Amino acid sequence: MRGSDRVRKTTRSLWSRFKPGAAILMYHRVTTLEADPYRLTVSPAHFAQQMRILAETCVPMHLEDLIDAMLANALPRRAVAVTFDDGYLDNLTEAYPILERTGVPATVFVVSGRMGSPLEFWWDDLERMLMGEERTPEDLQLTIGGEEYCWPTRTAEQRTAARTALHGMLSRQTAKHRQAALDALLAWSGKGAEGRPTHRAMSVGELLRLAESGLVRIGGHTVTHAVLSTLSAEDQRYEIETGCRELEDVLGKPVRTFAYPYGRAIDWTSDTARLAREAGLRGAVSTVPGSVEAGCDPYRLPRWAAPDCDGASFARALESFFVL
Ligand SMILES: [Zn+2]
Repeated sequence: MRGSDRVRKTTRSLWSRFKPGAAILMYHRVTTLEADPYRLTVSPAHFAQQMRILAETCVPMHLEDLIDAMLANALPRRAVAVTFDDGYLDNLTEAYPILERTGVPATVFVVSGRMGSPLEFWWDDLERMLMGEERTPEDLQLTIGGEEYCWPTRTAEQRTAARTALHGMLSRQTAKHRQAALDALLAWSGKGAEGRPTHRAMSVGELLRLAESGLVRIGGHTVTHAVLSTLSAEDQRYEIETGCRELEDVLGKPVRTFAYPYGRAIDWTSDTARLAREAGLRGAVSTVPGSVEAGCDPYRLPRWAAPDCDGASFARALESFFVL
C-alpha cells in the first residue's frame, strides 16, 4: 500500500469511528415523586431545560423519521429522537406542555393492556407495598416459581433490600408466577389493590389527547409488558402484534415503532427483532446504550437513558451521546 493510500485509509477509519451519530433518548416519567427507586423520573424543571437545549442545539425528530433518515443514509447532524416508555399519565400532564412549548416531537411507547387501568405497573406496586411508612409484618415469605423465599422486613433498610431482590427476581418470571407472588405480597401488606393516582397509566381519552396534535406519536410496548425473551415465538408475536393493534384501534392510525420491554440485551432475542419486522413495524428500540449511525439495524436501535439533571449537565452528557 502506498503511503498516501495508507493515510487516506487511516483518515477514513478514524472518521467513521468519530463521525457523530444520532441519539435516541429514553424517558419514562416527568414528575416529582417522594420515592423513585428505579430512577424513572425526570423533574418537570429539568425536562423543560433539557427540551430547550434539544430545540436550540439539535435536530429533534420523530423516531420513525429518524429511522427513515438513517435507512436513507441521510441523518442530519445532531439528530435526536425523544421517547417515553410505558404510557404514564404524566407524559400528558407534565411532559406534553413542555414538548409543545419547545416544539420537540416525541414517541410514547404504550402498554396496551394498561390503558385506563386503575392498577399500577407491577414494579410500582412492589414499591408501594414495601416502601411505605406503615408497619409491615416482621418478615415476608413468598413462593416464587415453586421456590420458597423469606426476607426480614422489620426495618426500612430490610424492606429496601427485599424490594431490590424481588424486583430482579420478578422481572424474570412468567406473568403467571409474577402475579401469584404479587397477590401474596398484596395480602401480606394489607393494602388495597387499587393504585395511586400519581402512578397510573393514561386512559384511552388521555392517550387520544396526547396524540391528537401529531407532535407526539404512539409506539407499541406489548400488551402486558412481558419479558419477550422468556416467551415462545407465538406468545411474542401476540404481545407485539396485538399490543400494536389495540393501540391502532384506539388511535385510528398505524403504529410504526416499538420498544422492547426492559430492553436489555437479555430481554429480547434475534427472533424478537424478526417478529417486530414481520409485524410491519418500521423499527424497534432497546435500552442498550449507544448512538445511531447509518447502517444500524432498525430493529436493534440503542437508546440513552436521559438523566434527571439540569440543562448544563444534560448538555455535557448530550455531547457523549452523539459519539459513543
Ligand atoms: Zn417499559
